[in-house]
Amino acid sequence: MRLMPQTRATRQKEAILRAAKSSGDHPTAEAIHAAVRREIPNVSLGTVYRNLQRLVAEGRLLLAPVGDRSARFDPMTEPHDHFVCEVCHRIYDRPAGAVDLRGLESEGFEVRSHALAIYGVCPACVAKQGKERRR
Ligand code: ZN
Ligand code: MN
Repeated sequence: MRLMPQTRATRQKEAILRAAKSSGDHPTAEAIHAAVRREIPNVSLGTVYRNLQRLVAEGRLLLAPVGDRSARFDPMTEPHDHFVCEVCHRIYDRPAGAVDLRGLESEGFEVRSHALAIYGVCPACVAKQGKERRR
């Protein structure tokens, strides 16, 4: 099988996907732009935005449903939930399961997708706050 020669646009899109995957904790478009510029120095933020939208439309990236002011991208496309720390703003991946989807279906609801974000304080920040209170 002969591989199709990659166009410049495809190369750019793949580099943007790689950057999204390596930028750690549910990166913003700006963080992905900063990462992809190490590979393609002259790529614009607009190009990154457009390609991120395409990657989401293709299902290769998700938008993390965390109600943040700026969109947070999620390279983990398997169903999962999120815990958002209100102190350090880290977004933790959690296994899906806090919502009883089977129960919904037994009541006749047809579930097509679900998005759940839980807000609170993560264990690291709880420990830090405990130390500060004891001072
Ligand atoms: Zn935290
Ligand atoms: Mn996630």
